[in-house]
Amino acid sequence: MNASILKISGLHARVDSQEILRGIDLEVRSGEIHAVMGPNGSGKSTLAHVLMGRPGYEVTSGSVTLDGVELLSLAPFARAQAGLFLTFQYPIEVPGVPLAAALTESLIAAGRIEEAEPGPLAARLAEEAAELGISPEILARPMNVDLSGGEAKRNETLQLAIIRPRIAILDELDSGLDVDALGQVSRRIERATREGDPPLGVIAITHYRRLLAELPAQRVHVLSEGRIAASGGPELAAELERTGYVAYREEAAGAAGAALDDPDPSERGLGETFPGGL
Ligand code: ADP
Ligand code: MG
Repeated sequence: MNASILKISGLHARVDSQEILRGIDLEVRSGEIHAVMGPNGSGKSTLAHVLMGRPGYEVTSGSVTLDGVELLSLAPFARAQAGLFLTFQYPIEVPGVPLAAALTESLIAAGRIEEAEPGPLAARLAEEAAELGISPEILARPMNVDLSGGEAKRNETLQLAIIRPRIAILDELDSGLDVDALGQVSRRIERATREGDPPLGVIAITHYRRLLAELPAQRVHVLSEGRIAASGGPELAAELERTGYVAYREEAAGAAGAALDDPDPSERGLGETFPGGL
């Protein structure tokens, strides 16, 4: 069986001349689920964006390789073609482009389907949509436009299921999902980590242990102030739910109010059009 490995080494990155990632080391292999937890503002989304190559972030040192290929010098589409996938914390509205059309074009670009043969893809889309509780008419609607938060996150999972990346970064896939949707998307992703050649490797960014109940992470990492402050097994997620992140902060004083349930202060409405640039 094929196996993939994503290696993040000594990754430092800045935005607006402020250092946000301050030395990240992480290795994720096919079939593994790693949870990255941490307080708001610790750099979780920045890590996801830097891995995928979103413009506006400056990598100052370090490397990120997928199966030996350095990703940091590649454009986002080339990282995607290498097998990396990101589900957005705030899925972006793409007016005028139906989800089914976007997926068809992705697979044609990757040489996975013939332009003239969309039939089998349509059948797979319908099957995956049914499993994820996505109504068929959503596939024909412009991507993420006027969808509820839950619908947009189900759409993200549908894309993952069809594209079958090697490594997926899930940025708070659980935010905005009700308990049924959470179960459906987590079960689908968990299945991808067991099936496929190679099976999917996952970095699951989340605040909540409830995601990990359905998507069981073997490794849990605490990101604090741009560094991985602790790593452990599933018991670490349970401990975090009890104690919060205070113990992992360099400047612990006065941070006691950081409850796990705090909504992200910068939270924008799900499905809202992402502002241009950053
Ligand atoms: P998390 O996802 O862990 O809540 P983020 O990665 O979104 O954290 O943010 C980490 C820090 O980087 C925050 O202090 C945030 O304000 C800052 N930051 C993120 N993106 C930008 C940006 N585009 N411009 C300026 N600061 C940013
Ligand atoms: Mg975030």
